Amino acid sequence: MIIFGTRSYLYQLAVLTLLCGRCGNTAAHVLRKRVTKFTLFFVPLFPISTKYTSQCTFCGLEQQGTEQQTNQLLAHMNQQPHNQFQPPYQP
Ligand SMILES: [Zn+2]
Repeated sequence: MIIFGTRSYLYQLAVLTLLCGRCGNTAAHVLRKRVTKFTLFFVPLFPISTKYTSQCTFCGLEQQGTEQQTNQLLAHMNQQPHNQFQPPYQP
């Protein structure tokens, strides 16, 4: 007897401050990647689907996005000068 099925894995990629399309608030959005893997005898073998979602932490709206959109958001976040308030380097 062969036992097979699927299993989902959820990865949290980042938390971004975005304008929500439903509640209109500039709220934190959690960026997640959900990978569904094919399992054989409960051993995950290979991914069969990958989904990217962002969820508004204010109203809970979850939106699906493409990998490209997600990568653009992540690249945009990395461009922001978030290290400008760090003290100067001292040897
Ligand atoms: Zn919202």
